[in-house]
Amino acid sequence: MGRALKIGILDGDDIGLEVVPEAVKAMRAAAQKAGLPIEWFPMPIGRKALDALGHTLPPGTLEKLDTLDGWVLGPIGHQAYPKDNPNAINPHPILRKHYDLFANIRPAKSFPGLPALYKDVDLVIVRENNEGFPPDRNVYAGSGEFRPTPDMTISVRVITRQGSAKVARAAFELARTRPRRKVTAVHKNTVFKLGCGMFAEECRRIGQEFPDVALDEVMVDTFAMRLVMKPQQFDVIVTTNTFGDILSDAAAGLVGGLGLAPALSAGPKRAMAQATHGSAPDIAGKNIANPYAMIVSGQMLLAWLGHKHGEPRAVRAADRMEAAVESIIRSGKTLTPDLGGKASTKEMGDAIAAAISDGA
Ligand code: ATP
Repeated sequence: MGRALKIGILDGDDIGLEVVPEAVKAMRAAAQKAGLPIEWFPMPIGRKALDALGHTLPPGTLEKLDTLDGWVLGPIGHQAYPKDNPNAINPHPILRKHYDLFANIRPAKSFPGLPALYKDVDLVIVRENNEGFPPDRNVYAGSGEFRPTPDMTISVRVITRQGSAKVARAAFELARTRPRRKVTAVHKNTVFKLGCGMFAEECRRIGQEFPDVALDEVMVDTFAMRLVMKPQQFDVIVTTNTFGDILSDAAAGLVGGLGLAPALSAGPKRAMAQATHGSAPDIAGKNIANPYAMIVSGQMLLAWLGHKHGEPRAVRAADRMEAAVESIIRSGKTLTPDLGGKASTKEMGDAIAAAISDGA
């Protein structure tokens, strides 16, 4: 691409301050080995930004992010923000909307030797991220949920052709990079004939542009059963917002829990690495948080940027990270307590960075 990638670093809150530096350390090591130039831009966000600058998303942050290719965002502990301060907002929905981060990509992969219900799962849920049921994100103004009478609540679900087509395309493009080349569209068009019907139509239409990728469709309730009984049968899954939210947590549970649940939110131009887990205030400051999810989220960002910008060095850096993370997990050594080990966050991050630098 002829220039350095520009990547922001936004630590977030609580364990974000511990796991984001480990992700950046691993990304730096991989970029160096791959000969990939990256310019890094640390930026204030969250509680620290509130204390130092008076706002959890300080003025100028969006303008700065506009100039970047992507960023790493740590978990946000907005539940603990002061309720009476209008500047103490959760920045995450603003970032997601502003950059149209329409595809929330959530892999679930199991590793032999780790506590997990299944040993051989390797699937990715691609969840539509800006429409659907969530009332804070499916309308331009106001709320997608309202109460016309004291005893009646209406929750509006938004499905658009454009939104469905965009997320379907992201799923097919991802499937093309994976060996099985298979997309499963999850919906319930037998009941939600218009909403899920439109989503399914768009998945089929986009699928025609990808003759090398197989498409099947599964009703969401049947899918939930098949996911828990035989998750190995799935490769890439594309679905609407709330179905994807629920199913991806279930998938994370099948392979060992939140510490092993990375994610990437991708838009038309930019992507944001953000692990599925929250800021985990119960373990913050103890240096025991598992950095895997944040490191692999960073790895997904490099892979996404590599494919987006036709930058093979970024793809190579991502491949190197993936191999190193897997080698550390498989070795069973230098793992954090949630994985049955005794290592600190930093020790596990150091081991992964060393495996990246030393690997062939
Ligand atoms: P949020 O609502 O912000 O998503 P949450 O309430 O779902 O957050 P988390 O903060 O994700 O919860 O934490 C849930 C549990 O998982 C906690 O017990 C936490 O300690 C644990 N946990 C989360 N992330 C990690 C991690 N990276 N390593 C180890 N344990 C983790």
